[in-house]
Amino acid sequence: MVKVLLTGGSGFVAAHVLETLLKRGYDVVTTVRSQEKGEHILKDHSNVPKERLSYVVVEDIAKDGAFDEAIKSDPPFDYVIHTASPFHYKFTDPVTEVLDPAIKGTTGILKAIKAFAPTVKRVVITSSFAAMLRDGNSVKVYDESVWGNITWDEATGENKLATYRASKTIAERAAWDFVEKEKPNFDLTVINPPTVLGPIVHHLSSLSALNTSNERIRDLIQGKYKDGNLPRSTIFLWIDARDVALAHVRAIEVAEAGGKRLFITAGHYSSKKIADTIRETHPELASKLPDNAEEDMPADVYQYNNTLGRQVLGIGYRSFKETIADTVNSLIKLGA
Ligand code: NDP
Repeated sequence: MVKVLLTGGSGFVAAHVLETLLKRGYDVVTTVRSQEKGEHILKDHSNVPKERLSYVVVEDIAKDGAFDEAIKSDPPFDYVIHTASPFHYKFTDPVTEVLDPAIKGTTGILKAIKAFAPTVKRVVITSSFAAMLRDGNSVKVYDESVWGNITWDEATGENKLATYRASKTIAERAAWDFVEKEKPNFDLTVINPPTVLGPIVHHLSSLSALNTSNERIRDLIQGKYKDGNLPRSTIFLWIDARDVALAHVRAIEVAEAGGKRLFITAGHYSSKKIADTIRETHPELASKLPDNAEEDMPADVYQYNNTLGRQVLGIGYRSFKETIADTVNSLIKLGA
């Protein structure tokens, strides 16, 4: 029996990680911000015995010592997967609502493991392509060597995307620094996915509570961009949530993943490509979609090298068509 602490279990990505962990036979304790959220997870997995799945409430990961109790478990943990971090643009204070939880949440859990969980062998952290992305056209090919360069001033200014990008960059750097300086009992693997798309497997109170990266698909099928004017983004790479989940679990299974930053992506995408693919997989939704929308991905878009992640983790990635089809079906089921 191998036991994993999974942070942020109520989230979009974490819910897929939880499914994958359970399917592959791990025992899981997940952290959530409230008892209500924890009970939803248990209800959604009512067939899983309580010794195999439970939750601990950690209301705010930014608080000092937030994980000090959650990390103590009997039997003790073998691995920790840390996904919890704010990913939304609905904040007013960039420091307390985004940067602190991302950065202090990361250093806090590492400190707690070092102090109270000597049995933990490896920690896997969900970082992001947001921790790699640089503005302009300076990077032609993204790989694990590239780091984001947002300044603290930009991070705490008006640009909410910059705040998120900085939160991921600084948090990931802090994790690598911690391991280097503190030489803890565990090693570290960091997973850097770009836009994560995919079906919803977590409890959602309403479609307006949908996770940020699936919002564009919801808005498209609800006719929000019918008159063209597709949303513009600077991220033109994507991956399926189920593949992200498998990457996290493979990261605890594969010895050579230790000490590595792994950039995982299935390829390029754009808003136009989403719209065109929905038209193909769900022709009945054509009237909601823009006709002849202009391509929003620049012709000279950056390229990527995802070889290391594929080699180390030994996984392949789903096609865009499968992901879009499954995501749209899932959103329709939720009432979109
Ligand atoms: P969600 O918003 O669905 O999940 C975020 C999770 O973090 C939720 O469980 C949330 O809890 C928790 N959380 C946020 N702030 C706090 C806090 N202060 N205290 C305690 N818990 C907190 O987003 P995703 O699933 O998309 O994101 C999960 C991870 O994946 C994040 O680290 C994100 O940066 C990363 N990522 C996501 C990508 C994507 O495209 N979706 C791409 C690359 C990386 P609650 O729901 O209760 O607020």
